[in-house]
Amino acid sequence: MKITVSVIKADVGGIGGHTRPSDGLIDAVKKTVEASADLLIDHYIGYCGDDVHIVMSHTRGVDNNEIHKMAWDAFMAGTKVAQEEGLYGAGQDLLKDSFSGNIKGMGPGVAEMEFEERPNEAFTVFAADKTEPGAFNYPFYRMFVDALSNTGLIINKSLARGVNINIMDVEKAQIAELSLWEDKPSIEAALMYPGRYVVSTVTTKDGEPIVASSTDRLHNIAGTYVGKDDPICVVRTQKNFPATEEVGSVFNNPHYVAGNTRGSHNMPLMPVKLNSPASINFCIPIVQALVFSMHNGKFVGPFDGFSTPDWDYIREIATKKALAMRSQGFVHPATLVPSELEYAEGYKDRMKVLETKMKPLEGNDVSGARKGNYEDPD
Ligand SMILES: [Mg+2]
Repeated sequence: MKITVSVIKADVGGIGGHTRPSDGLIDAVKKTVEASADLLIDHYIGYCGDDVHIVMSHTRGVDNNEIHKMAWDAFMAGTKVAQEEGLYGAGQDLLKDSFSGNIKGMGPGVAEMEFEERPNEAFTVFAADKTEPGAFNYPFYRMFVDALSNTGLIINKSLARGVNINIMDVEKAQIAELSLWEDKPSIEAALMYPGRYVVSTVTTKDGEPIVASSTDRLHNIAGTYVGKDDPICVVRTQKNFPATEEVGSVFNNPHYVAGNTRGSHNMPLMPVKLNSPASINFCIPIVQALVFSMHNGKFVGPFDGFSTPDWDYIREIATKKALAMRSQGFVHPATLVPSELEYAEGYKDRMKVLETKMKPLEGNDVSGARKGNYEDPD
């Protein structure tokens, strides 16, 4: 039986800042989805920080107009409540006034895949907040390239053959189809810079989908730097794919990602429990693991992947790394380079003042000086 799993998420308002949606907002999203539940086999609605995610199963394929419209309408209903309640950033991820056929490029993030359901289908949704899609580059690398992180890459026949990885260049709006193991160094070169190159999909060598990640907003508005978009992804697990514990454990070394307060800092990605708000301790980037079983499109779960006691220890590591980084205040690399700052207007103003005070050093010819990362963002 061919099933489509669609995960669509958006930030349409938070309580007192970018913290978490209100119960009223979530209720409005739930009611809208439930009113159109005949389109779906099953669904689950939750939140990660200020982002609401709708996880759906159906038989309508990817990029389905009706499914996307229902999600759009649900976020519109959530926005209406957010406005009535005076929530912060009401409707902030809905970039268009009305729905136009496909939710991609309209603001919400979409990760979806269609596949022949296995008898005991298993998948995990990773939802993150206060960061960008490239935040998943390092975990995906550990999952599919690094045998020191995932022994399955040696002892599982399918994984040992390598996988196909599609990587998007979000600056140039291009996508590269790369294949392990022949393209390993090129994949590594791309993943070095998660602000520019982002893993979009992963499939087996036979074309079976394993990973779909939300990169569409970036793709559709690419050409200029469009700032952060809190990512979400679906990863199928077990059998020919990584084991569930192999996809979870790649988040056990909280790596530094771009995002955090004002979308302008580097901070570690902290694994948290389902439906956790963002922390007001600098809003450390967070990630949740929604672990599902599925049969005939019906969900069991989600089991809360980062809820067991060992993850408390990982959270402690993340907190220590976060405080260590922020202990150096605004000094880079605690802050991002100017071209990646989400709110650059104030920075540009400061630099204009600095420039008026700058005088050339006598005897130095700077006419051939290169434009670098530390120039004002355009
Ligand atoms: Mg968010």
